[in-house]
Amino acid sequence: CGIVGYAGARPALGIVLDGLRRLEYRGYDSAGVAIVCDDELLTEKKAGKLANLEKVLSERAASNPEDCAASPIGIGDGTTGIGHTRWATHGGPTDRNAHPHQSPDGRVAVIHNGIIENFAKLRTELEDEGVEFASDTDTECAAHLLARALADLRAGGEADSPQLLAAAMRLVCQRLEGAFTLLAVDAGIPGAVVGARRNSPLVVGRGAGENYLASDVAAFIEHTRDAVELGQDQIVLITGDSIEITDFAGQPATGKDFHIDWDS
Ligand code: GLU
Repeated sequence: CGIVGYAGARPALGIVLDGLRRLEYRGYDSAGVAIVCDDELLTEKKAGKLANLEKVLSERAASNPEDCAASPIGIGDGTTGIGHTRWATHGGPTDRNAHPHQSPDGRVAVIHNGIIENFAKLRTELEDEGVEFASDTDTECAAHLLARALADLRAGGEADSPQLLAAAMRLVCQRLEGAFTLLAVDAGIPGAVVGARRNSPLVVGRGAGENYLASDVAAFIEHTRDAVELGQDQIVLITGDSIEITDFAGQPATGKDFHIDWDS
């Protein structure tokens, strides 16, 4: 339902939570975040209002002050992150069905708006190959496919880089049918967030030394009014100082630049 991503130099958690709060008007039943921090991926997700998620994050921060992404007041130093508010379509509104969804090793996190129409076929295929699912969502198959695509590319000799994350996301999108805005991060590729869209909106917010991704400009309007609307079947890769757009085949593409001139 609501999607936010951040790559830059500031602590991501507070920015992502603020963005999600700005998207609350759309309605949702669960919320979650994933922050990349010191080559680790820290995730938390909870059914119910954002306040439930924030409570869990504060408890985590209190019980483990070294956990750099856990503080909702932004004292941590994880500067790459994604966040989601969910409106359940496949699987009830429970903690385990909330996004992000992760690979079994916890190194990849994916959030998703929309419906992956061919998820049942993909799930059967993955289960036949021994993958164990942790939720009832259509989204989770995208997390497993992404983790496997990254593993295949690495096994083929590709080095970790933001472009590797984009290449893996392209392979995933080639397999998906339906409507999706997807964002993903990988613990081994700090500083980068990849997004993809088909039949569901995704906008980029261009900042100074930081960039944003969101399902709606409301999420980042307090930080920047310089935006790019992604076209159909496009992939976008953001780091703090770059925005790269391609189509699902990897060809360079352009979104539509615009300036947000309405009052927030
Ligand atoms: N289909 C996904 C789910 O049920 C995403 C729903 C949404 O757009 O929030 O988890």
